[in-house]
Amino acid sequence: MDMNSLQEKLHAIDRECRHLERTIAILQWDQETYLPEAGVEERAEQLALLGSLAHERFASAETGRLLDGLGSSSDNPGGDEKLPPLERDFLKVMRRDYDREKKLPNEFVAEAARAEGLSTAAWSQARRNNDFASFLPHLCTMSELSRRRSVYWGYADNVYDGLLSIYEPGMDSDAVAAVFAPLRERLSILLKKISGAAQPDCSFLGKKYKTETQALFSEELMKRLGFNFDRGRIDISAHPFTTTLGSDDVRITTRYFPDNVLSGIFSTIHESGHAFYDMAMPPELRGTRLADGASMGIHESQSRLWENVIGRSHSFWEKFFPVLAGFFPEQLRFVTADNFYRAANCARPSLIRVDADEVSYSLHIILRFELERGLFSGTVKPEDLPKLWRAKMKEIIGVEPETDTKGVLQDIHWSMGSFGYFPSYALGNLYGLQFFSKLRNDIPDIDSRIAAGNFAPIHKWLFENIHKWGRRLDPPDLLKKVTGQSLSVEPFLEYIEKKYSGVYGI
Ligand SMILES: [Zn+2]
Repeated sequence: MDMNSLQEKLHAIDRECRHLERTIAILQWDQETYLPEAGVEERAEQLALLGSLAHERFASAETGRLLDGLGSSSDNPGGDEKLPPLERDFLKVMRRDYDREKKLPNEFVAEAARAEGLSTAAWSQARRNNDFASFLPHLCTMSELSRRRSVYWGYADNVYDGLLSIYEPGMDSDAVAAVFAPLRERLSILLKKISGAAQPDCSFLGKKYKTETQALFSEELMKRLGFNFDRGRIDISAHPFTTTLGSDDVRITTRYFPDNVLSGIFSTIHESGHAFYDMAMPPELRGTRLADGASMGIHESQSRLWENVIGRSHSFWEKFFPVLAGFFPEQLRFVTADNFYRAANCARPSLIRVDADEVSYSLHIILRFELERGLFSGTVKPEDLPKLWRAKMKEIIGVEPETDTKGVLQDIHWSMGSFGYFPSYALGNLYGLQFFSKLRNDIPDIDSRIAAGNFAPIHKWLFENIHKWGRRLDPPDLLKKVTGQSLSVEPFLEYIEKKYSGVYGI
């Protein structure tokens, strides 16, 4: 078979697998948004079937033969040097995914998918009823399945590293711990300083904000930020997320609370940041497995950049406070854009990760990282997690949840078996600020563009520097290409220390 036919056949397999993966994603999206509770068990069966079909197709001997035929091997994943750079990047990613997938037996994949469906449903109910005990058996199953998965894949030093590196290629827990140490130290100092300062007036946030009106504001905001509703939509779920169901179908979810208007606004901006990345994939990558984020951390750098660096900036609220006040004239009477900016940047020890301010957010991640590491090294038992959670919250953040719903049960990740995912959130903060420092260098009047509601230069810069690469570059290479630097905590810490000295006058 000549090279062209080999390439065509390999791309056909990739396309089929992408279709199957996205069909799975549609069923998962439906489960989190509209599926009636009684439909959960049958849905788990459907997901298990499709998951094993996708796995079988992708991890087949045929995929291996085609990759071999194109000169791709574990040592030379990019294959034949005569192939164009894009094709070599495709082979590199295809080989990496294939080498990993083929190690997982079909029965294991089906078993894990079925367990995940049941586990996320059990988590959702347990969270609602503050009933950790009913979720515990699922948590044990999911951590055991993750352990087995990491063993199948093989790992260098410990089981947890095998899991962490799927989300963040090239990272291990020691490297993460090395960045988290200065982060924890300087953020704790800042949080303490802030706790001693006078808090801005946030009383207007405690008023009632109708959730229907919040939803209308969210849609308006998304449009103005550049979200194309012909290619996506927004719905409501217990845990906000973004899912890509096709090249022109990128969906986000959010949640609204009448007594916490900030939660809905910032979840919406956050998920829109994820959606912008997926919506911006260039034509040559669409439909292939290269049309995805470079890693979970890089994906998170995009969402957190929109949510915090842009969405919680003074310039942003100069533009959007009058818009918000148009939706809530009663609640925001006598409030100014400056009041709102300060209230949106209140930092205080809090219980819920997704609602945490920028100072304490990474501390929430460090807590989860330490518990996950313990879980897989055997020093932490699943049944002890609620107790350990409370103790660590007190130690790291200074507050203790009264219920497990506001503690160990708040996140969906462990119920899905996504152990090793949490560190990407804090890494996203670090990547995000490294990128934004470069963006500010390239577009020095960026603040006045934001204040004018003109986001086109930001979309263009992000596309040219980050989005257009998809998965072609791994995080360290992408970071180097964009900023000339390797991973660093400095731009993030400098940004946050400067911003919060301003907000609190410290
Ligand atoms: Zn996110």
